[in-house]
Amino acid sequence: MIAIQPERLLRDLRHAADFGRHLTGVHRPTFSPQDMEARRWLATLMGEAGLDADIDGAGNVIGRAPIEGRRLLLGSHSESQNHAGWLDGILGVLYGIETVRALREASVEARVDVGSWADEEGHFLQFFGSRSFAGGLREEEIDRAANKDDGTPLRTALREVGLDGRARAEMRATDYVGYLEAHIEQGDYLDSAGLQIGIVTSIVGLWQYRLTFAGEQNHAGSTRMAARKDAGAALVRLAAMIQERFPEIARERSVWTIGKIELDPGASSIIPGGAEMLFQFRDDDVAQLRRFEDALEAIVAELNQAGPCVCQLAVLSKTDPQRMAPAFQEIIEKAAEAHASGRHVRMPSGAGHDAQIFAARMPAGMLFVPSIGGISHHHAEDTKEEDIVIGCRVFADAAEMILEGIS
Ligand SMILES: [Zn+2]
Repeated sequence: MIAIQPERLLRDLRHAADFGRHLTGVHRPTFSPQDMEARRWLATLMGEAGLDADIDGAGNVIGRAPIEGRRLLLGSHSESQNHAGWLDGILGVLYGIETVRALREASVEARVDVGSWADEEGHFLQFFGSRSFAGGLREEEIDRAANKDDGTPLRTALREVGLDGRARAEMRATDYVGYLEAHIEQGDYLDSAGLQIGIVTSIVGLWQYRLTFAGEQNHAGSTRMAARKDAGAALVRLAAMIQERFPEIARERSVWTIGKIELDPGASSIIPGGAEMLFQFRDDDVAQLRRFEDALEAIVAELNQAGPCVCQLAVLSKTDPQRMAPAFQEIIEKAAEAHASGRHVRMPSGAGHDAQIFAARMPAGMLFVPSIGGISHHHAEDTKEEDIVIGCRVFADAAEMILEGIS
């Protein structure tokens, strides 16, 4: 068995938190100066670990084993959400680099490439880097993408950080035996159960919608109730119908969220003439996602039939659930049993990860380490050192076992 070096891993993780440090976490949005500095540092680490490292035209940091033939792909992301935690993403990238070092130190041929996939967090275009590397990302999608906070076009951002002249690297599925990723859980399932490793069975699908309500803006004092076309009231009615009907058709781990509500013009003495709602649901079964969509369409039709306002439903995005390869789940479980006997569990991921992009192209596997108190996307995000180290041991052993299967 190969041996990772805990002190080296922890030192690198702590150093990574210096790039965009914010309280006890980091603020390292995609293509910010701090993010680019972190990417260059990762490329240096990959080079020192014996990989041919470079940053491609999508901002992906890719370290390639200097060998011919099929290999294993490891990775995650290194940018953060705004004002977020120190482990989200970077943990998986550094596990990958530490695994390569441990393989080389044990004189095992490191048939491994490592990637830090740009903009998994979606500041411009969610999964930009992994979709680009996995193949099939269209240039028009890059043309259309803009920063969600300040509207900067993705093309402009790429030019400003000097990546516009570079080609986007694309994998061939035949290059790889599979993809392996580690991540913090971001929920409290492992932590509250006293477990150390989550073996991901699937990553849920996420379907998102915008609902727009058209009514008639008017005076809140002089307009009779019966004469109103109150877009805000229509929105609230629809929201109540969702909360009433979705539980009746939901599965145990289904989730749905009304994340944003806006009234137009949004003043205390004006009947809203317009309203907008952002709505999403997640499940690891595509049939369940369809059931939710059917229910949502039926609710909208019912509301429109009743009047007096008109509601329009628009799909914003749909990602389908992705199963993790059963063979990789077994390998991760075996490695987990060796390092955290009886303290591991198979579980679905409620959050999206780059592994779901690669899972559509090749066998993919994923493991979670606990998040203390289930906190993430916040500077208080943390994981016990012991759990960080055990997670890396399990990850490295799983990688070695997969490599043993390459002839
Ligand atoms: Zn993440």
